[in-house]
Parts: sequence; structure tokens; C-alpha cells
Amino acid sequence: MNDLLILGTDTDAGKTTLALLWLTAFADGYEYWKPLETGDPDTERVRRLVPTATVHSSLARFQSAVAPLLAARMEGKTILSAAAIVSAKPSPSQSGRCLLVESFGGPLSPLNDTELQVALVQKLALPAVLVSSSSVGAIGRTLQCLHALLEYGVDPRAVVLVGPPDPFAVEQISRHWSSAPVFALQPPDAWDVEGVARAAGEQRPVLDALRLGVESAPGASPLPSTALTPPAVADLLERDRRFVWHPYTSLRDPDPPLACTGAQDEYLQLADGRRVIDAISSWWTILHGHRQPRLMTALHEAAAAFDHVLFAGVTHPAAVELAELLLRSAPWTGGRAFFSDNGSTAVEVGLKMAYQFWCHQGEPERTWFVGFEGGYHGDTFGAMAVGRDPIFFGRFEPLLFRAETVPVSAERLDETLTRRRGEVAAVILEPLVQGAGGMRMHTPAELRDLVAVTHQHGVLFIADEVMTGGGRTGSLWAHQAADVAPDLICAAKTLTGGVLPLAVTLAAPAVVAAWDTADRARTFFHGHSFTAHPLACAVAVANWKMLTEEPNPAPRRIEAFWNTALQPLRGHALVKEVRVRGTIAAVELNLPGGYLAEAGRHLRHRCLERGIFLRPLGSVLYALPPFCTSDESLGRIAEAMSEAVRSLENS
Ligand code: PMP
Repeated sequence: MNDLLILGTDTDAGKTTLALLWLTAFADGYEYWKPLETGDPDTERVRRLVPTATVHSSLARFQSAVAPLLAARMEGKTILSAAAIVSAKPSPSQSGRCLLVESFGGPLSPLNDTELQVALVQKLALPAVLVSSSSVGAIGRTLQCLHALLEYGVDPRAVVLVGPPDPFAVEQISRHWSSAPVFALQPPDAWDVEGVARAAGEQRPVLDALRLGVESAPGASPLPSTALTPPAVADLLERDRRFVWHPYTSLRDPDPPLACTGAQDEYLQLADGRRVIDAISSWWTILHGHRQPRLMTALHEAAAAFDHVLFAGVTHPAAVELAELLLRSAPWTGGRAFFSDNGSTAVEVGLKMAYQFWCHQGEPERTWFVGFEGGYHGDTFGAMAVGRDPIFFGRFEPLLFRAETVPVSAERLDETLTRRRGEVAAVILEPLVQGAGGMRMHTPAELRDLVAVTHQHGVLFIADEVMTGGGRTGSLWAHQAADVAPDLICAAKTLTGGVLPLAVTLAAPAVVAAWDTADRARTFFHGHSFTAHPLACAVAVANWKMLTEEPNPAPRRIEAFWNTALQPLRGHALVKEVRVRGTIAAVELNLPGGYLAEAGRHLRHRCLERGIFLRPLGSVLYALPPFCTSDESLGRIAEAMSEAVRSLENS
């Protein structure tokens, strides 16, 4: 169950009527809030007509029954920003209850001097119901509003026509807008407590169906209408089997892939009609949730002006703004942002910059790198060299450049750097959480010691924040928790909130200074076709603003949830360790076989049976869900993980 937003195609659409009926029917589940109101206050009307409902006071109320901005002006007042309204959103007084938020006018009504109401709708990021009056013009009015909302990345989960029944309008809207079910409700025949109660009682089946539609449908794409027929699913999988080569997947008898037809919030919609929780954020990329409205809007807007432009000899506003935003969050003043297009290339860039830096300092003999046991930095050659996982990369050992792997220990690092004095270009580490190596975690204090030792030896430190960047571990960058200043920072997956491929390597001013030369032979000769892709940069700007403009309570909420929900597993005989940091929870099992452990497959299947999509790293069962994941979904993930572990007792 989530908070719910009532939108109207325009003023007098029937928003308050829906609110009254909804609260009467579901007073135990929802509390009412209308942030802004003008004229006769709806808040008072709701209080009067649904005495059992908990009604929160509005933030601002103006006398004249005109647009809030105009009404405010008439009183010499101003209206808060969308962000300020969102941060003032009340919390339901009883746990388990949700908020029913009623908007004013239409979504494109002015909110304040600079924003339309749709900015508030985007920032609230709630499932929405669009209400339209069933009076003449309902079809065009409703479809126009739905299309306009989609332009802003807002996709209501249901449409409600309020007024005298009009089956033709319901049929036509459903035909031309298949992604949201359309319902019809009639207003009470008497505007008193009994009249409202009677109307809610008589229309209870419609209200129940509407509630079910709103609470279970995660958005446009995943509705049953997008499910393929069983033969179509079989055909798709057969063609996939014949023509596609999937990553990390044996060509001989692999498990058939899950055919996916859409994604929304924390869910993946499968072609066979199942909806599963994406508990690993689509390979750790999706940050807020699938199809986050603000990010989708940024994408829509950018696509109206751009497809792609090269980035050598050309620039564009989104790349420049993104570079500024990213550097503002770095631990130094100055520096540069070098864009590429995936995590491995961000790492390659970091490694190449580190070596070339030393060449420019007259120390080309620094041809060694140091990585850590359990480290993973990507699948390209440089990244493999510093990752050196025997299962993934052992085969390529003869081709890999020189790198040592040490345990995550400042002492051992010190020994290695002492032994290789003058030979090492850089040390590379995934700060706080080593992901693919099994969600291994170290403390901020340990990280601080590792950086200190590296810098004592005059060696560069590369923070690979491809998985940890963007707030997953609790701070915007993981290295911030240790208050350290890496010389190079690599980011990718989460940079666009997971929407599009984009990567960056941030270089500290002292590193950048080594390229401050008129000698063209000392250029950094590196670049990818899709470097700084304009659409990806536009989405990344929106993402980075979301991450930095307002506090993000999700990592702490999810961390607290894991600590409680997975506590019982800590004592389990099969469990070696339960590790939690921010949104990441890992349960390491006492099982042989490492990454290839057969148990991994068993655990994955077991969780999928419960509607939870996980990909254990061998004997490490972990979850890393997006920020939007509801407590209910978190509960389902934790339950599936616990049950999957217990099921091993009998296997
Ligand atoms: N570094 C880290 C820490 C990663 O987790 C990954 C991917 N799992 C990479 C680099 C490589 O990123 P990509 O898959 O985008 O090449």
C-alpha cells in the first residue's frame, strides 16, 4: 500500500468527490491532505462529511476561489516551491496508514511564479489517479490530460470519470489509453454524512476494484494487457535461445531467461503476466526505482532536442552542467570530469590516467597496480588485471598487465607498497563494499587507513564507485563516509539513476595538472563513440539534482529494515555472516563452491517462486533494491531470502 495522489483534468473535475468516497470506504487505510486550497476549503468539507477520517491541515489556504497563485497574489502572499511542499508532506498518524493527497486545478495549473503544479506531482512521485468529469467533452479532455502528463513522465494508474454514467466515454478512453483502467463513479445525491456514506456503500465494488488497480498495478507498462500469450512467450524464448548470446551465461542448457515486458518502481513485469520485485536494481544500476518520473521527464525533454553528438571538439549543456555538479560533490576543489559509457571504461580511463600521470612526472617505470582480494572492476583488460578473479579472468592471465592483489588490510598494503617502492602507479578499491566479489564490506576506518597508507607511499588512490556511488551505502559517495580524498573516482551504473549507460572518471586537480602542457604528444588519447551521450547526461543531471537537493532517507530506512528483518538469520547454522550497509544486505552461507556453488541456483529459483528476483553470487545471497522499494516489498524480499536459506536445510 502506497500514498496516493488525486489529479484532476481541471478544476471541478470531481477530485474531492473521489476523496470523500475513498475516505469513507477506506478510512482505516488512508488519511487526507490537500496542500493548497482556495475558496471554500475542501479540507473542512472532508472533515465535515467524513467525520471518521484523519484530515491533515493544508499548508496554505487563500480566500478567493481562483488559481492559488492569483489568490495568493491578491493577498500579497507567495506560494512555496514544489520541493518545500514535498518536504512538508505530513506523516500518517497511525503506522500502516497512507496519505491521500488531493491536488488543485489541473496538472498544468501554475503552482507558483516559476513552477507548474506538475513539478509538484513529479516531486511527490506518488501513484496517481486522474479524475475527470463525465460531462460533455470527457473523452478529449481526459486523453489530452493523459498525454500531457506522460510528457512529464507521469503515468496515472487509473482514470475515474465522476458524474452521470457515460459508458461510451469509458469505452473510448479505454480504447485509446490502454495502460490505465477507467472507472465511473457517481457523486452522492445528498451532500451530508449519510449521503456520502450511502454513495460509498452503493459503489463499494467499484471503489474496491479501483483500489486494487491502483495498489497492484505499478504503472502503464506492466498491466496484464502487455502480457504475451503462452505461445508468444515460447516463441520469444526460442528465438532468444537461437540468436542471442547472454552475458555470464553458458550456451549449453542455460536456464531460460525471464522474458520481461516492462519495468516500474521496484517491479519487473514478466511476459507471462507475473510481476516480480527487482531486488538487485537491474544489476545495481536503477537507483530510485524503474521509470522514475523526474528522470523520464528529463529524457523526454532531452530527446526533443538531441539524439547524439560526438564529444571531441563538440560540447553540450547537459555534459557541462553534469561535470560541474559532479565536481561539486568531489572531495577537492577543481579537477575535471572525463566521460565514458560504462563502469569498465570508467576504470580503464582511471588506470590509464594514473599511468600517464607518472609518465608525465618522469616515472614511467611505475607499471604496477595494486588491487584487493575480492575486488571487481569490470570485464575489459585493464579492469580484469586489477580484479584478477580466478574464475572470471583466470583464463586471460597470460594477457593481463602487472598488478598485485592484497587482502583488504592497511598492513598488507603497506608491505606491498614498500616492497614495490617506485613501481606502483595506483591502488584501486571499491570503497566500503566490494560488490561482485561477494558484497564484502569494510569499515570507514579501514578505508581511511588504506588511503592513508597509499598516500604515505606517494601512490595514487582510485576509488571505484561504480556500484557504491549515488547514495546506496548511505552517503552520496561511499568514500565520503571515511572523509578521504581519492585521486581518481570512477562512477557509472547509478550516474543516470540506471536509466541509460554513462560513466565518468573524476580526476583531482593534482592529477589534472600533469596534462597542463602545450606538448600535444601529452594529450590523453582516449575516447568512446558514446562518451557523454546527451540524453544520458540530461538524465544524469536530473538524477544528481535529486540526490543532492534534498535529503535522501531511503538508504537509512532500508538499512534499518535489513538489520531488523535479517537479524534471525544471524544465528542460523548455515549462515556464516549477515552484512548490511545502506541499501545492501548480504547473507553469506557456509557452503563450498564459491561463485559456482550450486546452491546459488537453488536460492535464485526459490526466491523467484515467491516473486523476488535475485542473483546470488554463489554462496552469497544478497539484495540491493531501489530507493523507492516499499516496506511491504522489503518485507517480501527478506522473507524470501530467509525462506530460501531455510530451504537449504532440507536439500
Ligand atoms: N566496477 C564495479 C565496482 C562494478 O561493480 C562493475 C560492474 N559490476 C564495474 C566496475 C563494471 O561496470 P560495467 O558492467 O558497467 O562495465
